[in-house]
Amino acid sequence: MATPMTARILDFDTNKLNSVYGRSSLKKQNTQRSVSQLITRLSSVLQTSIELAEILHIFNEEVRQIVPFDGLAYQHQANRYENAIGKTNGHSSSYRLQTPDDHLGELSFHRKKARFTEAELETLERLIVSLIYPLRNGLRYQEAVKSALTDALTGAGNRISMENVMTREFDLASRYHQSLSILMIDLDHFKHVNDQYGHAAGDYVLKSVVHSLQAASRCADMTFRYGGEEFVVLLNKTDIAGSLITAERLRTTIANLSFNFENQEIPVTLSIGAATLVPGESKETLLDKADKALYHSKETGRNRITHANQLLVAEV
Ligand code: GH3
Ligand code: MG
Ligand code: MG
Repeated sequence: MATPMTARILDFDTNKLNSVYGRSSLKKQNTQRSVSQLITRLSSVLQTSIELAEILHIFNEEVRQIVPFDGLAYQHQANRYENAIGKTNGHSSSYRLQTPDDHLGELSFHRKKARFTEAELETLERLIVSLIYPLRNGLRYQEAVKSALTDALTGAGNRISMENVMTREFDLASRYHQSLSILMIDLDHFKHVNDQYGHAAGDYVLKSVVHSLQAASRCADMTFRYGGEEFVVLLNKTDIAGSLITAERLRTTIANLSFNFENQEIPVTLSIGAATLVPGESKETLLDKADKALYHSKETGRNRITHANQLLVAEV
């Protein structure tokens, strides 16, 4: 049986927001004291956090005291944010949250046993109004944090982000004895791309290469711009064999593509240095090994992969 679903668009104009946040209208609501009290409480308690996950958690905990439900789901596509709390199946009531200036995502309430009554939906809609300003602030904060960790040209993670993620993955790999590999990638003869096609074409190629690397990697969030035309892909739970397979996939993906900029086909190749963590090794050593392997790929002809661990064995 199909799940009954109510979908509504909540368009919050300034008057509606003021009427909930303003003190005078709260007085008028004393006919429904518990809801009014909750709105007052909710408005102040929601302002205690700027983190989206925390805001949604507070909202979930507070609202279900008045209207029982089993789960809540929220998503904001442009910010690539999704959060589900509790059980998000069964009957649902969904809201598209919109203010005159911002689209604030979609929120849905879920309940297994009974569908929401009209009175409950009315209450939920009044409570959602309290969420609007905290949600907007949370989304802006999330955007600011994200842009501080993202390379502006390519959208890959920046060096700060790479340091954070490497530290986290390194700790996880050491604690749970999991394998961890790194690919250091450098575009071949990229100076020539700039010289022949112009700097704008070079920028376009950098953006396109990152897009293709992310599409061909298991996890897009693990691709970082290390410097000008140099990138790092972090591969968690990946051993030597796995890192070589991924490196080869990335190399062939780029070698087989031709980037089209203003009707000019620009061929690009990559050189890759791979390294896999061995017990007792530091993050810095891992990066250094990958860098040396990359240098070896450059020296031996470019458009190729060298694995540092195998290189060391070969050199012994
Ligand atoms: P190799 O194969 O040895 O790596 O040669 P290469 O030409 O790629 O290396 P080199 O280090 O000589 O040149 C790197 C070039 O990358 C020079 C620099 O202008 C270019 N570059 C770095 N950052 C950017 C950028 O953001 N945009 C553009 N368009 N070019 C960039
Ligand atoms: Mg280069
Ligand atoms: Mg370089």
